[in-house]
This record gives sequence, C-alpha cells and structure tokens, in this order.
Amino acid sequence: MIQQHVLAELRALLGEDGLLTEPEQLRTYDADGLTNFRVVPAAVALPRTGAQVQRVVQICHRERLPFVARGSGTGLSGGALPVEGGIVISLSRLNRILEIDIPNQRVVVEPGVINLQVTQAVAPYGYFYAPDPSSQSVCTIGGNVAENAGGAHCLKYGFTVTHVLGLTVVLPDGSLAHLGGKTLDTPGYDLPGVFVGSEGTLGIAIEVILRIVKRPETIQTLLAAFNSTDEAGAAVSAIIAAGMLPAAIEMMDRLSRDAAEAAVHANYPEAEALLLVELDGPAAEVALLMAQVRAICEAHGAWEIRVAQSEAERAVLWKGRKAAFAAMGRISPDYIVQDGVIPRTALPRILREIEALSARAGLRVANVFHAGDGNLHPLVLYDRSKGEEQRAEELAFEILRRCVEAGGSITGEHGVGREKQKFMSVMFAEPDLETMQLVRCAFDPHHLSNPDKVFPRPRLCAEKPGRYEPHPLERAGVAELF
Ligand SMILES: Cc1cc2nc3c(=O)[nH]c(=O)nc-3n(C[C@H](O)[C@H](O)[C@H](O)COP(=O)(O)OP(=O)(O)OC[C@H]3O[C@@H](n4cnc5c(N)ncnc54)[C@H](O)[C@@H]3O)c2cc1C
Repeated sequence: MIQQHVLAELRALLGEDGLLTEPEQLRTYDADGLTNFRVVPAAVALPRTGAQVQRVVQICHRERLPFVARGSGTGLSGGALPVEGGIVISLSRLNRILEIDIPNQRVVVEPGVINLQVTQAVAPYGYFYAPDPSSQSVCTIGGNVAENAGGAHCLKYGFTVTHVLGLTVVLPDGSLAHLGGKTLDTPGYDLPGVFVGSEGTLGIAIEVILRIVKRPETIQTLLAAFNSTDEAGAAVSAIIAAGMLPAAIEMMDRLSRDAAEAAVHANYPEAEALLLVELDGPAAEVALLMAQVRAICEAHGAWEIRVAQSEAERAVLWKGRKAAFAAMGRISPDYIVQDGVIPRTALPRILREIEALSARAGLRVANVFHAGDGNLHPLVLYDRSKGEEQRAEELAFEILRRCVEAGGSITGEHGVGREKQKFMSVMFAEPDLETMQLVRCAFDPHHLSNPDKVFPRPRLCAEKPGRYEPHPLERAGVAELF
C-alpha cells in the first residue's frame, strides 16, 4: 500500500485531477491490449509536464515504489500491466509536438503524442513519419519507443529505432539524462539504441527527437489473390530475390481475409491468400518495378491482381489489413495475437506447420503478417466459454517455439512484456540474459521501473507476488535477484 502522506504529496504536485485512487478509476488501467493479465494499481499519476514526471519518479525512488509508464495501453504483451501496490504513470497528457524542423528533417515530441499526429503535422511539408503500426491512430510515440514498434512500412524504412535520434529520459532514480541528440553519430555508446525497445524497464522518455522522411513522388499498391499461402509466400521470396525493396509486403490468409471483409467490406477477392505489395519512389521506377511484381505474382499463381488507381482505392485496400486484428471478433469470441519472426524463406514451411498444429489442437489459426520481413501474426481463435483457453495458449507458444527453431524470434514488434518472459530462455542462453540484466541493473539497481517484465524470473521459494520485497536468502547474500 502507498502511504497516505505519499499520496498527499503526489496530489499536491499533480492537482486533484492528476492523481487517481478510486477503485473504479483504477480499473481502467488494470490491463493493456493483452487483457487476460490484470492488476489494479495502487494509484495512477497523470502528470502534465516532464518536470512533474521527474518529480513523481523521484518520489517513487525515495519510497522504493515500483512504477509503470503507460502510453495508450494498446500494447499486446502486457508491457503496461501495473505492479500490485505500485503506481502507473500515464504519459497521455504530455501530448505536445514541441518542434518541427523541416530543413533538418527532425521533429521533437512529448511521449504522449499519437503516432499518426506526427505524420499529420509534417504532411503539409511533404514529409511523413515512417514507422506505422496498425494501431497508429491511437498508440503513442512513448509506447512506440519502448516497444521499438514496427509496421507495414518498416520493411523499407526500418523500425522505430531507425527513426529515434535522441531522447530525454527520467532515469529510475529521478535524474534526467539526454541520450543521443539531433545530430547523427553522437559519440559514445548508442544509448538511444539501448533505450528503444527496453519496454519501460530503463526509465521514462519525456521527450523524443524523431527523424522524418520525404514523401515519395509516387506510391502504388497492388493486391494479388492466390489459391494458397504457399504460392503467396513463394511470390514474396521471389519479389525480394529480384532485388526489389517494396515499401510493404503484407499477407492475409483465408480466415483473416474473411474477418477483415466482414468488418470493413474492402471487397477483397475470395482467395486463400492475399498479398498487398506497395512500391514507392520516382514514378518511372515504380511503374517499371510494379510490372515486375505483377509478373512475379502471376508466375506464382495469382489469379486476380488489382492496382489501386486512386488514393481512395489504396486506402480501402489497406483498411482491411489494418483492421484485421480487431476484425477477429467477427469470427471468434476470443483470440490470441501472436508475434513471431522467421526467415522469409521459411514462410511456406512454417505456415504449413501452423496449419498442422492448428488441426492437431482443433483450433483455427488466422494468419495476417508483415510477409516482407517474416514477421508473423498468427491469431489463435478459441472460445473461453468452452474452456479452450489453455489449449489456445499452448498452441500459440508452440508456434513461437517453431519460429525460434526456424532461426527466428519470439517477438517482432509487440515486445516481451509479461506474456513472453518465460520464452526468453528459449531464445537466449544464460550469459545473454545476464548481459541484458547488467544493462538493466546499471539503469535501475532497485528494480522500480516496470519490474517483473521482460526477464524470466522464477520466484524464489516463499517469495510473495506483488510489490518487490527482498527475499531473506537475498538479504543473507545466498541468492541473487536479477
Ligand atoms: C489493433 C492493434 C494493432 C497493432 N499493430 C501493431 C503493429 O502493427 N506494430 C507494432 O509494433 N505494434 C502494434 N500493436 C501494439 C501496440 O500498439 C504497440 O506496441 C505500441 O507501440 C504501444 O503503444 P502505447 O502507447 O499503447 O503503449 P502502452 O501499451 O501504453 O505501453 C507499451 C510499453 O511502453 C512503455 N511505455 C509507454 N510510454 C513510455 C514512455 N514514455 N517511456 C518509457 N516507456 C514507456 C510501457 O511501460 C509498456 O511497457 C498493435 C496493437 C493493437 C491493439
């Protein structure tokens, strides 16, 4: 429990509407997008300025109170899940775009700025912010930084880490650090690179310097319909093997197609697999390459090909893809979104394996994914009311295991969070994890910033869940907490 005098101090700092403590208010913050994990925090702080964030963290540090940063709560791995007895620091009120520097292609934002708002702010100048998660109309830049968010166009433009040049960060002891900066190639360790993707475990970003990109002269989007994911997967490999780097290559299988169609009526062909291929660049180059993409798709069995003829048509093609996760509610009462990575060439094989695993488990799996970079999003469909949850989780994890065995990863963009902690040791050896822990402990020796996430941590015997208390064995120097 937070002591009353601490709550009073926080309230004096943040104002009456800046601190939530009522149970019904706190329940809003008990989960992120992964709603099967829920913890009600002891309080939620809603600071308005970076200075207030810093003061709140200083108080947490003094009181040894664990805290969890939160953006929009759209994370899919339980990253923003509160700690029992700890506080959530919501960054949603730090939502100002502080500087737009077009000549130098930089934008400085507070962490609560919504991803899409960056592009909207620079579009009049002919620029855009490249990382575009499907949740871009609601998720925050702070959350994107913490998760190293990706999106359809990261195949060509790179993930969030490529676009973050600098950060102002409140460290877990409440001090302020400036990592990186507006210029490229700052000397010393690549600390923005360390912070991006750290899932809230190294402190709280209160300002972010972003790189923006010139909008290409032409963008063209092609939709191709195939009779199987094998054919579509082979087309993806052939497009990349031909030396092209499309802005995006996305795939949907039959189930995803049906769900998306039911949700947004994109008029997709009734295909077993759909490919969306987007090319951008100078008009002449795009026209030439689009002809090649079309030929490759046809050679791999595409029986219908459409190229969007207007921005409105392009938006409709994308609408179904971007809505695909949410659309699963149309075809299943419950579903698990997984996020694994495989080498692109393994796509057809792994998709066949997923099909076999799905048949064996007696559960449907829909596949919608960033095919160009091998980032799968298998959606395991199940019905909780029929007691299928455990089977669904086992199937989802078995798919991840296959991804690792294929030389891939347990997460492409959604992070480890709470959900995949136990899978870190499938992917990493003990010395790898220890090296990561050394970094974490250097930033946060007291384990206050989003503790109990990312790292697998078997509980010590007799250790109680909830707020961290040193175990007697730790105090005696017999066991070590990492
Ligand atoms: C329908 C849907 C589609 C999605 N599609 C994609 C996709 O295509 N690509 C993709 O990458 N993700 C996707 N996501 C996942 C999610 O949107 C991203 O992970 C996003 O980056 C989370 O942002 P958020 O503001 O919601 O962060 P939250 O969920 O609030 O937090 C995420 C993590 O960031 C930490 N955090 C938040 N703010 C800060 C800060 N200022 N400083 C330090 N740590 C902080 C939190 O502690 C937590 O660990 C999707 C989610 C949904 C629901």
